[in-house]
Amino acid sequence: MTSSGSVLIGETLVRGLLVDDRTRCAHYHGPLDVIALRFACCREWYPCHDCHADVADHPASPWPVEARHEEGVLCGECGIRLRIDDYLATDACPRCRAGFNPGCRLHHRLYFD
Ligand SMILES: [Zn+2]
Ligand SMILES: [Zn+2]
Ligand SMILES: [Zn+2]
Repeated sequence: MTSSGSVLIGETLVRGLLVDDRTRCAHYHGPLDVIALRFACCREWYPCHDCHADVADHPASPWPVEARHEEGVLCGECGIRLRIDDYLATDACPRCRAGFNPGCRLHHRLYFD
């Protein structure tokens, strides 16, 4: 049931190849894959960089270091938006305690400078 579209999570519209309403997508859909990321290039939200590559019409650009105070991460379980620096300092959602996939850290360079 993969479809290219968008899902409203809390007040945030997430685009990409979503497979549920917790931000899991065709690329990452394990139990801990419950975050979406905002991209600096278009300021739109996607579950992962592969979704951005498949759906957006431009290359993704990571957030510069100066943008760590921006809301750049969305918890798919409860819909809270986290600042990039807060997300980088934790491994679980501060509101609902959903665990964030530690494997995502391997990809941080794709999202954050
Ligand atoms: Zn973009
Ligand atoms: Zn994806
Ligand atoms: Zn949460």
